[in-house]
Order: sequence, then C-alpha cells, then structure tokens
Amino acid sequence: MRAQAMNALTQDLATPRGQDMVNEFMSRLDSNGSVEHVRVYIDADSGLGTYSVRGGNVMVLQPSDLLSSYSGRTGVGFFSYDRIFAHEMGHMAFGNNAFDDYALTNIKNNENAIMEQLGYTNDRMFY
Ligand SMILES: [Zn+2]
Repeated sequence: MRAQAMNALTQDLATPRGQDMVNEFMSRLDSNGSVEHVRVYIDADSGLGTYSVRGGNVMVLQPSDLLSSYSGRTGVGFFSYDRIFAHEMGHMAFGNNAFDDYALTNIKNNENAIMEQLGYTNDRMFY
C-alpha cells in the first residue's frame, strides 16, 4: 500500500500541474535555507479521513478513502490514490481557502487537472 501510494504521488508530480506544485514546494525554505520537507503520513483511522494543511507541507492519507465514490462528469467515479493526492496537494501547494471545495476551485484547478493530464476524463463535478 505504501508503494502504491508512492507510485501515485510520483505520477501526479510528473504531470504539468504536478510540476507547478513541485516548484511551489521547492520555493519553501526553512530558516537554514533548506527546502522544507513535504510529509505524507498514512493513518488507517485518522478520524478525519484524508486531510491536509492548506498552504502547508503535511498530508494525512486514510487508505480506506481509496475506491470511495464521487459524482463524475460521465457517471460515478471511484477515488484512486492519484486523485486523492492531486486534491490534497492542491490544498497544500496553493493554500485555497476553507470553502474552495464547495466552489470546486481546487477540484477543477488541481484534482481534475492532474487526472486529465494522467488520462482520466471522468472529472469530479461535486464536492
Ligand atoms: Zn478539499
């Protein structure tokens, strides 16, 4: 499961939108001038599902979110690690406000954008 998640994260970050995220993360330096680490924790029962710190460098992945369903443009879709990471990294890299999920900003600009760049066309349409 760790390998599957790592593979998905690597794929996401290799896309054009993923590279925008990499550039943002690489610009974040600690007080010593070193690039801040991006940390992904895996928690079987986080109590909050998968979540991230908006504008931050931390994400908690709850693996049971894998294969949960979403409303897609061409019908029901199922969350992959790619889609979960694309969503959370959007929050982390670009610090969208607390309501942006409802406005679909992060979903359109990051989640669906990366998934399209990976070849998945069933865009999420609702939060
Ligand atoms: Zn969100």
